Amino acid sequence: MGIKKKIKGYESCSGCGVCLLVCPLWRSTGSMAYTRKGRAKAMQGGVAPEDIASSIDACFMCGSCEPACPEGIDIVGMNLEQRRRLNESRSSYPAWYPKNEIHTSSRNSKLPQTNTILMAGRNLDGDIKIVENIVSLLGGDKSIAISDDDGRDIAAAVEAGLPVPPERIALFISLLRNAKNLIVSEGILHRQLREWLPAKKVMGIGEALLNIQSIRKALGPDDIFIVESRGYHSDFERLVKFYDRLRKDTGCLMNLDLQRIAIPTGASSLRGAHNRKTAGCSEHSAWILKGRKFKRIVVEDLSDIEVFQEITDVPVVHLSMIVK
Ligand code: SF4
Ligand code: SF4
Repeated sequence: MGIKKKIKGYESCSGCGVCLLVCPLWRSTGSMAYTRKGRAKAMQGGVAPEDIASSIDACFMCGSCEPACPEGIDIVGMNLEQRRRLNESRSSYPAWYPKNEIHTSSRNSKLPQTNTILMAGRNLDGDIKIVENIVSLLGGDKSIAISDDDGRDIAAAVEAGLPVPPERIALFISLLRNAKNLIVSEGILHRQLREWLPAKKVMGIGEALLNIQSIRKALGPDDIFIVESRGYHSDFERLVKFYDRLRKDTGCLMNLDLQRIAIPTGASSLRGAHNRKTAGCSEHSAWILKGRKFKRIVVEDLSDIEVFQEITDVPVVHLSMIVK
């Protein structure tokens, strides 16, 4: 039997501050109190989650700080656990919290038997043209099935630190058992799905589309490519190599820093989806673009389109729309 790796928590934070370099909240607020370092140090000092509620609520759960941390702390797990503990001690919630949206029944009784299932999620909601285009690019509806139950309620509850009933999880994953590949637009679900269904290959929309040669060839040095941060950081070591290859093949710029950590706009977080302005998404997007020369912005996450359109005149397109 192998030795189980110890999961490190806030006690292991040395206060080095490396996580600040990639944190959009540090960049936009300049306040240590809103960073992972600030929360870890406060917890070492003995504060309760309710004492640092505004910081816990502000976090985008982008996961950028986790691969940056030299101590190897399970930062995403720690962020989610803090939200869960905070929820236990309070009676009112921020306006962006999901409103009791856990589904108890599934609409997926006719999901066709295919190797690959696409879960479009909140991010692709309402854009049937994009979803149809993605299905067509990935081989058509004989190769890929769209799941009506895309787990968006579970994704929202996980992000907010709210409980997900085990029967809801059981129902959700029971519909996915026959597929080998799960293409999941809600990046926050990637970790969970790998835990619940370890034999499946879980990937984001971006990775799935970038495996298509015509799409890779349509990217070039005039593009800046915006990687979806949550899915990317959930499988960081593998995906660093994947996107490094893409950068070398195409010459495109990316929203990755020198450590290859993805800087998010925050637009697909619950906070960003509720109000991009108060979430500071324009400031985070401007930070990504600062000092870079490009003629087009290509995004993996549809939620990022509008936020970039607000601050630049260059075309902003979803990856699925760069080939005709
Ligand atoms: S998850 Fe993102 S927003 Fe939250 S502390 Fe880490 S880098 Fe900052
Ligand atoms: S990078 Fe890790 S060890 Fe350093 S301050 Fe941040 S959480 Fe603490």
